[in-house]
Amino acid sequence: MQTSDPQQAAQQIQEWLDASRFAVAFTGAGISTESGIPDFRSPGGVWSKYRTVYFDEFCRSPEARYEYWRQKSEAHQEFARAEPNVTHQTLAAWEESGRLHGVITQNIDGLHQQAGSRNVQQLHGTAREVACLDCDWRDDVDRWVAEFLEMDRVPICPTCGGRLKHATVSFGQSLPEEVLDTAARWADEADLFLALGSSLVVEPAASLPRIAAGGGAKLVIINRDETPLDGMASLVVRGALGEVFRALDVDGAA
Ligand code: NAD
Ligand code: ZN
Repeated sequence: MQTSDPQQAAQQIQEWLDASRFAVAFTGAGISTESGIPDFRSPGGVWSKYRTVYFDEFCRSPEARYEYWRQKSEAHQEFARAEPNVTHQTLAAWEESGRLHGVITQNIDGLHQQAGSRNVQQLHGTAREVACLDCDWRDDVDRWVAEFLEMDRVPICPTCGGRLKHATVSFGQSLPEEVLDTAARWADEADLFLALGSSLVVEPAASLPRIAAGGGAKLVIINRDETPLDGMASLVVRGALGEVFRALDVDGAA
């Protein structure tokens, strides 16, 4: 079934959620556009603005590290200002009331946790922290962005002098295996799988909805644009997430 009517979509989702034993949400950049963070592929999105710094470049070149920190520090202002929106909040409320097992996200903005979600698998890591590539030391990001902006110099790890990088998965860097394993397990166990605001073209993340549908879950895809997996979904909603989630009765679901 396909609809662009938020009321109809909300009613169907509510019904399936009520009947579900293991519901999982899978989210992409589209869930955070209504919080003011641009996605990758839309006009004005990240790809039209920045040159990509690949992981191997970051590792070997001080210039690439500088360019990376420059870009990330700019994006940081956007992330720091952003607040969770109705979709993040509803998912957190569903988890709290035991209706949603957890959230698998491609996002690095930390807005699910800020909304109160606890069971979150971050496939691409988080931009809220930095990690040392040489000794695994980690810290909150704020102080290090401030230092970069002030000194105009790439910060180094305070314990080993190694290379500090945002704790995100860069292009050319492999995904955290444990997170991916857990996400695949959830997808396999799910009886309801909500894919929200993702173009579903980035592998291996896009394979999760496929695993869920293959295992017999009802797959719901809510996205402004068409996705390659629309054909295998039980429900496709072509529209804005906020409109659908505002139509859902969160209090009634508690
Ligand atoms: P994407 O940019 O490929 O796709 C986002 C999709 O969301 C698009 O198809 C668009 O039509 C849809 N969309 C945008 N706003 C929407 C709305 N309000 N309602 C419904 N649909 C909406 O993003 P992706 O598939 O998540 O993959 C790209 C990568 O970009 C991810 O790996 C992620 O790590 C990274 N990224 C993350 C953030 C973030 O953390 N907020 C932002 C930009 C990019
Ligand atoms: Zn270190």
